[in-house]
Amino acid sequence: AAAAVGSSVIPIVNKLQDIFAQLGSNSTIDLPQVAVVGSQSSGKSSVLEALVGRDFLPRGSDICTRRPLVLQLVHCPKKTEAQGDEWGEFLHLPGRRFYDFQEIKREIETETNREAGGNKGVSDKQIRLKIFSPNVLNITLVDLPGITKVPVGDQPTDIEARIRTMILSYIKHKTCIILAVSPANADLANSDALQMARVADPDGSRTIGVITKLDIMDRGTDARNFLLGNVIPLRLGYVGVVNRSQQDINMNRSIKDALAYEENFFRNQPVYHGLAHCCGVPQLAKKLNQILVHHIKAVLPGLKSRVSAQLTSVAKEAQLYGDVVVSKAGQGAKLLNILAKYCEAFSSMVEGKNEELSTA
Ligand code: GDP
Ligand code: MG
Repeated sequence: AAAAVGSSVIPIVNKLQDIFAQLGSNSTIDLPQVAVVGSQSSGKSSVLEALVGRDFLPRGSDICTRRPLVLQLVHCPKKTEAQGDEWGEFLHLPGRRFYDFQEIKREIETETNREAGGNKGVSDKQIRLKIFSPNVLNITLVDLPGITKVPVGDQPTDIEARIRTMILSYIKHKTCIILAVSPANADLANSDALQMARVADPDGSRTIGVITKLDIMDRGTDARNFLLGNVIPLRLGYVGVVNRSQQDINMNRSIKDALAYEENFFRNQPVYHGLAHCCGVPQLAKKLNQILVHHIKAVLPGLKSRVSAQLTSVAKEAQLYGDVVVSKAGQGAKLLNILAKYCEAFSSMVEGKNEELSTA
C-alpha cells in the first residue's frame, strides 16, 4: 500500500534484519513502538488502519477499542502461492492464520467482548495480533481505548482515570512515538491527546500531532492554524488527515478509495495549498519514516560495536576450533562491512542528500 508505514525504509531495514537472522545473531534493530492517543472517536483506529493500508480494526461512533491492541507488523518475503502472503495471527489463537481481514476484525470484537464484556466495558488486558506481510516493516503499533469522561454501560465511575493510567503505561516509555490524534471539529486547546502527550513527553521530542476530520469542520473554519502549529506548537509538527466517515465504513469504501478521496480533498481546498508537507496520510507515513530513520541512525553505531565484539570472540574461538568457526567469522566480517555501508548511507539519507537509498 502506498501509505504503509515505513515504505521507504522497509527494504533497507528488512535486509539488515534478514542478515542478522541468517547469522543467528542476537543483535538486531529494535524499532520504536508507535501508539495512538486521543479522546474516544477522534479517529485513532482509522489513522492506524490507513497507515497499515488494510481494513481490520473495529471503528465507529461508539466505544469500539476497549482493550489495548498490540499490533506487531512482521515482514515476510513475498510468496507466490494462491492463498496470499498477508495474514494475521493472534497470540490467544496460536497457529491459526487469518487470511481474511474481515475475520480478523470479527475476532478482535469477539475477544474484546470475552474479556471486557458486551456492554462497553474496558479492560487493560492486551490483545496481541501479528500481521505478516511483504509490505510492512517490523514495527509495533498500539491501538488504545480513547479517553471518555462519562461512564456508560458497565464502565466504572472512575473510567476516565483508568483509561488515562492505561494510556500512560504505554506512552511513558522513551522509545514510544506518540501519535496524538485530535479531531479538527473540536478546539485544539481542549485536546485530550495533546494534554496526555505533554504529560508523557514534555519536550515534545516524540509526539506527532494528527488532526483528523478536516472534511467535517464547521463551515467557514479551517485547520490551517492548527497545522502550522500556531495554536499549540509541537516540535515534530502536525499532519492533517481525512479518514473514512461512518457512512463510508457502512458502505465498505476501500482504503484505496479513501486515500484518493483525501488527496482530492486537499487539492480542492485552497486554504491547504502550500501545506502539502503536513496534509494527508502519506505525509504522516513519511514523517514516521523520517523518525524511524533517525532512530536507526542513532542505534547503528551501538549495533556495529556489538557485532564487532561478537566477531572478536568468534575469531578467538576460531583459533581453538578451526574451520567451522572461521567461516562464521568471515560472515561476521562481511556483516560489519555491510553495516558500515548502511551507517554512511543512512547518514546521507537523513541529511536529505540521498532520498531514495538504493538497496541493491
Ligand atoms: P477512535 O475511537 O479514536 O478509534 O475513532 P475511530 O477510528 O473508531 O473513528 C470514530 C468515527 O469517526 C468513525 O465513525 C469514523 O468513520 C469517523 N472518522 C474518523 N476519522 C474521520 C475523518 O477524518 N473524517 C470523517 N468524516 N469521519 C472520520
Ligand atoms: Mg479506536
